Amino acid sequence: MRRSILLTPGPTQVPEEVLVAGAMPIMHHRTPQFEAIFAEATKGLQYIFQTAQPVMIFASSGTGALESSVVNLLSPNDKVIVVVGGKFGERWANLCKAFGLNIVQLDIPWDEVVSPALMEKTLKENPDVKAVFTTLSETSTGGVTDIEAISKIVKPTNAILIVDAVSGLGVVDLKTDAWGVDVVVAGSQKGLMLPPGLGFASVSPKAMKMMETSKLPKFYFDWKKALKNLEKNTTPWTPGISLIVQLNVALNLIKEEGLENVFARHIRLSNAIKAGMKALGLQIYNKSTGSACMGVLCPEGIDGEKVVKLARDKFKVTLTGGQDELKGKIFRISTMGNVNENDAILGVAVVERALHELGYSFELGKGVAATLKALV
Ligand SMILES: *Cc1c(COP(=O)(O)O)cnc(C)c1O
Repeated sequence: MRRSILLTPGPTQVPEEVLVAGAMPIMHHRTPQFEAIFAEATKGLQYIFQTAQPVMIFASSGTGALESSVVNLLSPNDKVIVVVGGKFGERWANLCKAFGLNIVQLDIPWDEVVSPALMEKTLKENPDVKAVFTTLSETSTGGVTDIEAISKIVKPTNAILIVDAVSGLGVVDLKTDAWGVDVVVAGSQKGLMLPPGLGFASVSPKAMKMMETSKLPKFYFDWKKALKNLEKNTTPWTPGISLIVQLNVALNLIKEEGLENVFARHIRLSNAIKAGMKALGLQIYNKSTGSACMGVLCPEGIDGEKVVKLARDKFKVTLTGGQDELKGKIFRISTMGNVNENDAILGVAVVERALHELGYSFELGKGVAATLKALV
């Protein structure tokens, strides 16, 4: 029953050490003992975020932290650029709409990511823009944005750059300080290998200045309260105590492996799976697919939803399907988080079995052979 593998872009597989830590008795959060744990968590997050700036922890899923960045930095009618190249770009746009912002929407074909040239042109045409919202890993398409290049363009302007890195943090490289990214938002259930329930946001001095003039209403997600409490190693409200205990265990696993090695593992595993898909005659959907998640285009006449259903219910590997315009057209495989070589090999084998059962004609084992060759 339990032996089922998640090759999904969140929630991801939680390592045993982290699961066990979640079973510890609850400690009270207004104690020096918990404050020490909280301080360690903040330090660990700064390592993963590659920043010396504060990283706030919220008891919410990733979207709560996304919302917090909108309401704490902006004011009604502020002009913002929102990159929309998939479902999560759409989420940024919907959030900004909900709070009455004046949106310049950059619609990108879903099989591409935003080009630095387009960002430069849009910023030139809109010098009064206060913030640029984009996504590091657009989970719905597999596209990974070149945040370093985008940041170079936004940095000299008055605008701040806010990056949804929920499915990219701890998976693909994001040098928050070195690249000058103002706000990086993440969540617990993706690269950090935790259960869902924590949201994170880092904040640069440039963003903190903007925070001072922000007039949108906020209460639960008030960054000023959060930052003031962070200095005392606590939160304004009851934190997700068990999740933060688990967070430290997960952060230690990442530190032990080394952040660079974690990135390299994701590249190695996703390249091996890509080799397997190619050997089966299948193509990857997004031209800028990185190592977080890939969309695989289904062969003619094969329904991607059926591939996912068979893989999950018969062969015990959870993949994800396409969303909206991609529904049925792609299935997604992710090496995000706690995924090893065996998981990747099994994932390719299960894709083969599902495709075989759905009548796709190919030489059984060809994908697995290519994946194995890529790994040795
Ligand atoms: C998963 C994800 C989110 C956050 O979703 P929640 O369900 O609120 O945790 C946001 N952005 C991206 C790119 C994601 O992959």
